[in-house]
Amino acid sequence: MKLILLGPPGAGKGTQAARLMEKHGIPQLSTGDMLRAAVKAGTPVGLQAKAVMEAGGLVSDEIVVGIIADRMEEADARKGFILDGFPRTVAQAQALDAMLATKAMKLDGIVELKVDEGALMARIEKRAAETVAAGGVVRADDNPEAFKKRLVAYREQTAPVSAYYASRGALKTVDGMASIDDVTRAINAALVG
Ligand code: ADP
Repeated sequence: MKLILLGPPGAGKGTQAARLMEKHGIPQLSTGDMLRAAVKAGTPVGLQAKAVMEAGGLVSDEIVVGIIADRMEEADARKGFILDGFPRTVAQAQALDAMLATKAMKLDGIVELKVDEGALMARIEKRAAETVAAGGVVRADDNPEAFKKRLVAYREQTAPVSAYYASRGALKTVDGMASIDDVTRAINAALVG
C-alpha cells in the first residue's frame, strides 16, 4: 500500500498516518520529522533547513526530494509507505512520479484532509499547550507567526498539489473536521472504494 496524505498544517495527517501505519504495517515517511531529526543532529541538511523551517517557509525541493529518495530505498519501505508532508509542491509531485516510475511502483491512494482554515490556528495552539503540559518541547514553528507563514506556503505551493492529483482523477477527499475516529473510518472507506 503506497499512500499520500495531503492537507494543511494541523489537519491531522500525523495522527492518521500513525493509524494507517499500524493497520497496513507500513512506515510513515514524514519529511517534517526527517528534517527535524536532521536539524537536531546538526547534519548538513539540517543546517540548511533550520532557519527556513523555524520561519514557516518551505525547504528546497532538491533537499526534500533527496531525503525521500534515500528513505524510499530502505528495506522497510519496499512494500509500501505513507507519505506525510511530501509532496508539498508540484515540482515535488513530479519528482515523485519520476522516482516511482523508475521503481515500477504505483500509488494506491492520495487522500486529502479538508479542514476549515479558521480551526487550524486553534488546533496548533492546543497542540503547543498539550506539549508544554506533558513536559515536552514545543516545535520551533508552532507559534502564531510561523504558523501563518506555513498556511500561506500551503495555500500558494501545496494546494496546487491537490489540484495536480485531482486533475488525474486520483484524489480522494475526506472531511478532516470530523472526530479522529470518523476521519480514520472515512480514510479507510476512501481507500477501499
Ligand atoms: P506541518 O505540521 O505544518 O504539516 P511538517 O512537520 O510536515 O509540518 O513540516 C514542518 C516544516 O518542515 C515545514 O513547515 C517545512 O519548513 C519543512 N518541510 C517538511 N516537508 C517539506 C517538503 N516536502 N518540502 C519543503 N519543506 C518541507
